Amino acid sequence: MNQSQQTIEPWLRGIIRCPQCKGEVIDATHAGDDAAAAAGASSAGTSVTELRCDTCHLAYPVENGVPVLLVDLARRTDS
Ligand SMILES: [Zn+2]
Repeated sequence: MNQSQQTIEPWLRGIIRCPQCKGEVIDATHAGDDAAAAAGASSAGTSVTELRCDTCHLAYPVENGVPVLLVDLARRTDS
């Protein structure tokens, strides 16, 4: 079995927009260092799925297939 729990429902993925600029976001992955370690449940070496907005330079986390579209929780990608 190789089904990812991070998969976003296609209908949901199709309507997701960046909450800040209302632009489209792209699928991306980020090495799960701090976030995954803090959760404590994941094994090391996992990567986290995120939705990235290159306009705002923000990456929104996806938790258990649910995108967290909050600017306050987004990771900055331009630093
Ligand atoms: Zn944006």
